[in-house]
Amino acid sequence: MKKAILYLVDEAGVIQGVQLSAELWKKAEKVVLPLLEEPESQELQREGPLKDFQTLMEYWDFTYPYSPRVRCPHCGASCEDWRTDEKHTFILNTANLGGLLVFHCTRCGTTIRHKHFKDHMSIEHTIPAKYKKS
Ligand SMILES: [Zn+2]
Repeated sequence: MKKAILYLVDEAGVIQGVQLSAELWKKAEKVVLPLLEEPESQELQREGPLKDFQTLMEYWDFTYPYSPRVRCPHCGASCEDWRTDEKHTFILNTANLGGLLVFHCTRCGTTIRHKHFKDHMSIEHTIPAKYKKS
């Protein structure tokens, strides 16, 4: 197979992508597509943020009950309770007593911030650089 694989490099010669011939893709497709279904990273929930979250729950004095529901505004992934979600779609990266919870969407890499204020919560998110148009 001549020129079945074409490497795409940047100015520095670093490989940024790979282009396959249609013929090769037909063979590789079955192997590659299932990989896209898997979470991008096999990150595990770290203990630190969970402890900080527990502390926040203990001192919770906002005027509304805590909602463990998380939704990714970018890819649409959601779960009713990130703590019991078997797919571990959302990893808690940061929690603090001020009411800030920062989640990482394992499906697309978006960072989701739940900012809890006295009487409301606001949600902000940052999508990964790879999705941003330059
Ligand atoms: Zn997402």
